[in-house]
Amino acid sequence: MKVVLLAGGVGGAKMAEGFDGLEGVELSVIGNIADDAEFHGLWVSPDIDTLTYSLAGRIDRAQGWGVADESHRALGVLKELGADTWMTLGDRDFGLHIYRSHALAQGQSRSEIAAHVAKTFGVKSRILLPTDDVVQTRVRVAAGWLSFQEYFVREQCKPEVLELDYAGIAAAKPTYAALEAIAAADFIVLAPSNPLVSITPILEVPGLRAALGAARAPVWAVSPLIAGKVVKGPADRMMKALGLRPDALGVAQYYAGAVDHMVIDTLDEGLRAEIMALGKGCTVLPTLMTERAEKEALAAGIIEAMV
Ligand code: GDP
Ligand code: CA
Repeated sequence: MKVVLLAGGVGGAKMAEGFDGLEGVELSVIGNIADDAEFHGLWVSPDIDTLTYSLAGRIDRAQGWGVADESHRALGVLKELGADTWMTLGDRDFGLHIYRSHALAQGQSRSEIAAHVAKTFGVKSRILLPTDDVVQTRVRVAAGWLSFQEYFVREQCKPEVLELDYAGIAAAKPTYAALEAIAAADFIVLAPSNPLVSITPILEVPGLRAALGAARAPVWAVSPLIAGKVVKGPADRMMKALGLRPDALGVAQYYAGAVDHMVIDTLDEGLRAEIMALGKGCTVLPTLMTERAEKEALAAGIIEAMV
């Protein structure tokens, strides 16, 4: 079965690991590039790297991001020299950013680089980018516009979000690989990632949403909100601030035009009738993923419910 997963960072990577581990599943993950930014002259792609490190077994499991067994000597030197070092980048991680930046300078595309890194690190699934162009989420808070990482890391998601913008998205071109994977898919799943800053900047790349609509595969989404709360991150507060219901029903309403079916947590069983009243299917499963077995059980449960 060809499964295409649209995914952000930590929540997306957990779901990707679940499908990646299943027998008979050929997984292509379309990752989010709108968190990308330049640091110290290097191009950093946090969500793609979280996917790659997770599927390669190199992730720092306790943190959910970054490389296991990491040190921060390079960052220490940068700090000593007066650079801004609020973005934590480890030494091994720096190696990847140096490689990516050099390959970009030599004219390789972002998706070629991502594919090479994934293959070299031993990732079985395909990691695709929605576009090779630069798209960057910007967040308006009371103090003005911030880059996504300024909001997320430097400001620790504390300021209230007033507006979101995906700079560059209107002019972005979808990658052929992403469009082709969507068209060839047997099953398309939106991971339990932040709907506003992980999934939307994928869906809004011109052509992507239309490709999902035209695909022969069913399109399902897994709610990142359980009992009205995030597992991690600002999705619930962001949704509330932007006038959306911060729960699985709010996620279903937000995705209404793009998905056929919602997967919600057992704690949210009470929302099932209202989700089905939107004209959507709805499957209730345990969706909290900590151990590998839980990730694979959720992926298997979703497939079983779909077929
Ligand atoms: P980021 O790019 O690292 O912020 O990660 P994502 O956008 O991929 O995922 C963030 C979302 O994942 C948050 O809204 C979390 O609530 C959700 N999430 C994280 N772990 C889990 C989990 O085990 N189950 C579910 N259902 N959602 C999760
Ligand atoms: Ca992210």
